[in-house]
Amino acid sequence: MIEIKDLHKSYQMGSNSLHVLKGIDFNVQKGELVSIMGSSGSGKSTLLNIIGILDEADQGTYTLDNTLIKNLNEKVAAEYRNKFLGFIFQSFNLINYKNAIDNVSLPLYYQGVARKERSEKALHYLEKVGLADWATHLPNELSGGQKQRVAIARALASDPKVLLADEPTGALDTKTSYEVMELIQNINDEGKTILIVTHEPDIAQMTKRIVDLKDGLIINDTYIEPVIANAHV
Ligand code: ADP
Ligand code: MG
Repeated sequence: MIEIKDLHKSYQMGSNSLHVLKGIDFNVQKGELVSIMGSSGSGKSTLLNIIGILDEADQGTYTLDNTLIKNLNEKVAAEYRNKFLGFIFQSFNLINYKNAIDNVSLPLYYQGVARKERSEKALHYLEKVGLADWATHLPNELSGGQKQRVAIARALASDPKVLLADEPTGALDTKTSYEVMELIQNINDEGKTILIVTHEPDIAQMTKRIVDLKDGLIINDTYIEPVIANAHV
């Protein structure tokens, strides 16, 4: 699903250059649940943003679902993001003046799906994350965990090939974090490929594979028997 070879990324700041990714080789098969671990500043978000076609590498190759991701203009990049990827962020990134169902519908609107089908699909995914009763509520009427569930429903709505989550539990308490991880595990059990960036070891233990980043390189890549989040809830 994801093939990355010898990826490099530097940031230019004036006359200084910060070499953040220093030769990343990384493959993900369909159906994996992978965590990318590493301390703050190790390059996790940079890598996830490149995988998410939000940023581009300076060197190396990236192939997503057999499509080479290279030199895309913003229009094509947006199309590919819409077609291939669903995003989950630490701060949820919901639109405050839109209710839950309209937030979930939004990616479908951009795909040109008709209004009725949009609403039906959005409600289906809200049901899937256990929030059907909250469909008409605004984000500020929801708890942090509920907001993240809406964001997960939104990420699922376009049935992406890959879900990308950058610190999805970073703004949640431990119990709520484990509930969100239980949902993520259930979505993965249905076959969805999921990548999670986290710096929390207990969250990484709930995935099936832990990739450790340090100073811009992968220093460890281990398949594990995941801790079942449900056992902690
Ligand atoms: P992580 O997500 O692991 O905390 P990041 O990928 O966000 O790390 O950042 C890696 C390094 O790159 C950090 O030193 C950060 O300050 C720097 N960095 C990230 N984004 C930019 C940017 N847009 N411009 C300049 N430096 C950046
Ligand atoms: Mg980060």
